[in-house]
This record gives sequence, structure tokens and C-alpha cells, in this order.
Amino acid sequence: MDQESIVIVGAGLAAASTVGALRERGHAGPITLIGEESHLPYERPPLSKGFLQGNDEPEDFTVHDAQWYAAQEVTLRLGTAAISVETGKQQVLLADGSAVDYDQLVLATGSRASVGGENPMPGYDLPGVHVLRTLADAKSLRAELTEGAQVAVIGSGWIGMEVAATARQRGARVTVYSPSEVPLAKVFGERFGHYLLELHQRHGVDVRTARAQGIEQVDGHLQVLSDAGSSRADVVLLAIGARPNLQLAETAGLDVDSGVIVDASLRTSNSKILAVGDIAQAFNTRLRRQLRVEHWDNAIRQGKLAAATLMGEEESYDWLPYFFTDQFDLGMEYVGHNSPDDTSVVRGSVESGEFLLFWQDGQRITAAANVNIWDVNDQLRELVGREIPAERLADTGIELGDL
Ligand SMILES: Cc1cc2nc3c(=O)[nH]c(=O)nc-3n(C[C@H](O)[C@H](O)[C@H](O)COP(=O)(O)OP(=O)(O)OC[C@H]3O[C@@H](n4cnc5c(N)ncnc54)[C@H](O)[C@@H]3O)c2cc1C
Repeated sequence: MDQESIVIVGAGLAAASTVGALRERGHAGPITLIGEESHLPYERPPLSKGFLQGNDEPEDFTVHDAQWYAAQEVTLRLGTAAISVETGKQQVLLADGSAVDYDQLVLATGSRASVGGENPMPGYDLPGVHVLRTLADAKSLRAELTEGAQVAVIGSGWIGMEVAATARQRGARVTVYSPSEVPLAKVFGERFGHYLLELHQRHGVDVRTARAQGIEQVDGHLQVLSDAGSSRADVVLLAIGARPNLQLAETAGLDVDSGVIVDASLRTSNSKILAVGDIAQAFNTRLRRQLRVEHWDNAIRQGKLAAATLMGEEESYDWLPYFFTDQFDLGMEYVGHNSPDDTSVVRGSVESGEFLLFWQDGQRITAAANVNIWDVNDQLRELVGREIPAERLADTGIELGDL
């Protein structure tokens, strides 16, 4: 098994993590990494934060440099998309007409920014209208986020709100078109949503409850049309969600739902193929359900898990989802998996900007977040799944470790 030829399609974070863990665990056979982007695998969180602010450059968030891949004897096929998988021949076909044979295949094709699916947002392809998924996207957006530019952000999810914060920090005037009155309230609850809304308003972001309906070019500038009227913009970011890249999995005839369906060791319905990262709808043994998440931490951990599975080791997807965000002076980490119906409990003072947040289903903690309080996320992770009365959670007189 440790001499088999392993091919990984999609050269993002999950792929880089798989490669590293394979070599660490002693895989001695050939590894080929196929990626559509011409860059070495890199981390995407800085694209809406440090890189967009002008503080980080690509070398700061490239996972490994070219020498590392050479030393690990990894064959890189970058700048070439894989277009189909011939499972009978155990071959991946590339856009340049070549084919690569595999003994085991790992799909790590990630997500792409949505422009509206089958009904794309009218005007999404106009000059000055951006999405944000790749380094190339971030470079072209960064060049336009200049002092005084009027920036319209369509969508109030994590990426939209992070870019709104970054654009303000670069001196742009920013309007967010939020389809809900309170950003992110649908998933994280009103309390957190209001906190985020006020944070942005305090920093001068104009957050409008408005559903954007299209973008037009009028007299050399852009115009965002929404159900609350239209307004002018120099730059537009379409941040209306991401979609997993499932086409390749479909060509391989794999079971696909909202992601590629994999078991707790990341095997797909074809025993020679695994799926990792944003595309994997994996069975989480801790939560006892299929779960697909689009998080940095998940890409790293699932890469390591895929390597374990490929090496014949018995490990499983048994950890809780984790993610982080940075916006203005907000730094937040979240662990767990809450449902929109869960109640939320604040521990500490929201006004001070430093607090913990718990989500509960009855008394059972489903998720927790630390906002501007550091080094407690591991403790919060331990609390998820436990049953604790809300009054006790909110009581700062009781040490976190004594809950
Ligand atoms: C702007 C931005 C900010 C983010 N911020 C955070 C954050 O703060 N916290 C957090 O937890 N998560 C964040 N994320 C999410 C996180 O970056 C993703 O969950 C993570 O990148 C997923 O890794 P992946 O390897 O599965 O996919 P990706 O990183 O998307 O990599 C997939 C790669 O596969 C390539 N590919 C696709 N199809 C093919 C094909 N057919 N052939 C060859 N190559 C192909 C793609 O071009 C891409 O390079 C952010 C994402 C973005 C875009």
C-alpha cells in the first residue's frame, strides 16, 4: 500500500495537507498533484483579510514552497484542470489531453464563488464586479479598493462582511446589501447578528436590508439595483455564497448530494477514491450525521485523515467543526455545530466586545464561540455536547473550567 500511486486532484489546502501527511506517515510511492490554478496550494482566509488589507503577500500563506514539493518527490501538474475520471481504467483525464493513472485518487476540488447558479445575477460579468475565491480574484479586487472608492458588497455572509471591514480599513465607502435585517442571524441567532451589525455600523459601513436584483453600467459607473432602490458603486463584490466543485465526482459516477458522499474515513462510493475538504459530505462520528463544512481547519484535518485512510490506518472524522473570523477589532473562534433553532446564551458583556457565546438545544450545548477572548477555544470544545443550565453558563462567577 505504501508504494501505490496516489493522485490528488485540486491543489488547495486539503490537498497540501494530504500530501504532507502521506509523506509523514511513510508513503513511499508516487504522488501527483493536479491543480487548475497555476499557484502552489495556498490558504484562502487571508484573501479577505491580510492580503486584501495589503499586510500579507502570497508567500506568507503558501502552504509549502516549491523546494518542499521537490524534496517530497511530488509531481506537480499545476495550471491544468482535470476534466474527467475513468474509473474503469483508473485514470484522470486532463484539459491538456494527457491522462494520469492512479491506484488511489483523492478529490479535493474545493468550492467556487457562486454568481447565482442557474439564474446568475444580471451584470455579474461587468468590469468592476468581483467574486472572491482565488488569489487572482483577490489581486484584482485589492487593486480597486482605493481610498474613497464606493464599494457595494452584495451578500452579508462571512466573506461579504470581512471584505466590507477590509474595504473600510482601506478608506473606501462601503454599502452592504443584506437580504436579512440582521447579518448571519439566520444561522447564528439575532444576538450575534446584532453585535456584528452594530460593529460594522460603528465603523461606518452602510448595511442595508435589501435584496440586490442586478448590476448595471450607467455612464461609466456601476449601479446596484435592489428592492430598496438603486445606488451607484465603483466596485461591486458579489458575495452570495460558494458552491462545491462536484463535476469531476459526477464524471466518476460517485454518490453526490450537496457534496461528495463519503464515510467517516473519507471513502466515496468507489473504494479507490476519497474526497476531502469543502466538497466532502462526510459522516461525522461525533455528531452522528453527514456534514459538509467549508472551513480552513476542516481542510487541514481531513487531509490528514485521508492520508491515514490511504495508509490503511483506522481513524475517523470525529472532531467538531471549527472556524474563525476577523473583522475590524473583532476576532472570533467558533466550535461545534448549532442549528438555527438553538437558543443562545451570552457569558460576559457584549458591550465590552469581549464575551463568550453558547448555543443550546434545551440544555445541551451545540456550539460555542469566543469573541476577543483568547486561549479558551479548547475549553469550549470540551463543553460542546454537555448539558448545562443557561443560568450557569452565563454566570461569570463560575470559572469556565468548573462548569
Ligand atoms: C476569501 C475566503 C476567506 C475565507 N476565510 C475563512 C476563514 O476565515 N476561516 C475559515 O475557517 N475558512 C475560511 N475560508 C474557507 C477555506 O478557505 C476553505 O474551506 C478551504 O480553502 C477549503 O479547502 P479545499 O482544499 O477543500 O478547497 P480549495 O481551497 O477551494 O482548493 C481547491 C482547489 O481545487 C482546484 N480545482 C477545482 N476543480 C479542479 C479540477 N477539475 N482540476 C484541477 N483542479 C481543480 C481549485 O482551482 C482550487 O485551487 C475562506 C475562503 C475564502 C474563499
